[in-house]
Amino acid sequence: MDITGPHVKKYLKKFIVEPEKKLKLKDYDPGWAQNETLKQMSEDAAQDLLQQMLEKDRAQLNEAQALLAASGQYSILIVLQGMDTAGKDGTIRHVMSGVNPQGCAVHGFKVPSSEEHAHDFLWRYYHVLPERGMIGIFNRSYYEDVLVVRVHPERMEQLPEKLGPESGGFWKARYQDINAFERHLVQNGTIILKFFLHISKDEQKKRLLARLEDKDKYWKFSTADLAERQYWDKYVIAYEEMLAATSTEYAPWFIVPADYKWVARTVVAEAITSAISGLDLSYPKVSDEQVKILMDAKRQLEAE
Ligand code: AMP
Ligand code: MG
Repeated sequence: MDITGPHVKKYLKKFIVEPEKKLKLKDYDPGWAQNETLKQMSEDAAQDLLQQMLEKDRAQLNEAQALLAASGQYSILIVLQGMDTAGKDGTIRHVMSGVNPQGCAVHGFKVPSSEEHAHDFLWRYYHVLPERGMIGIFNRSYYEDVLVVRVHPERMEQLPEKLGPESGGFWKARYQDINAFERHLVQNGTIILKFFLHISKDEQKKRLLARLEDKDKYWKFSTADLAERQYWDKYVIAYEEMLAATSTEYAPWFIVPADYKWVARTVVAEAITSAISGLDLSYPKVSDEQVKILMDAKRQLEAE
């Protein structure tokens, strides 16, 4: 499956990370927008626009998902990563509002439990993967195991010393494991779309402050987010290495400009509909014989 092919909207292609190519996040503008003048909009106008885009995305996503479910061959795995406040939850709400809840499952991943830590790092993700016909959204994912754990090695599970992060080539081996895992899924009919919601450090400050300025948003503020902010530069390095090492032709990363929420949400929604339309799915065909059976059933009902 080629999700970088000609059916993918042109503007989306520039967000796709080229496999194996070293990258610097500072070369990607988190404040990019489809239209510069839109950036000057008031909050109210932005809300209106978001609403309009939502309607459009909703219709397209709905149609794409209906086809995906009806043909029952592929599943879609959407991976969302980003620094704290990058807008993962809002993006999921946006995408979810367009699809039939029966065809979509969201899984958020927090600090692993002791049971989860007692297994290999992919274990907890494996059994919640989407089945054929379904869209699965991972709010954080196995990529945390090469991000937060890389920045804070003390948070890692207990591995045999010989195999732990002190051993050479540990992170490279984890990237390879992830690539092999994704390749296996792709070869078995899963389409994997990975989005890194890229915000600037300034924008994170604004969003954290906003949570402290509005009583209704107090609950969203976590002092842990403030503590993690101190590690911003280390996260940037971990993200850069991870993105370059795990963006593949079969499961590419999108670096999504996310300082403007409406930009991030549309980019993600359009990448998803684009990928599904690229599958060239059609509703299951009904044979002449089946049509005959159906018409018999119709006559039987009408005759009641
Ligand atoms: P939130 O997404 O705000 O609910 O936060 C979830 C927290 O769980 C974040 O601080 C993540 O860094 C942390 N987390 C998620 N996955 C892992 C993991 N595999 N290892 C360690 N911490 C994790
Ligand atoms: Mg958080």
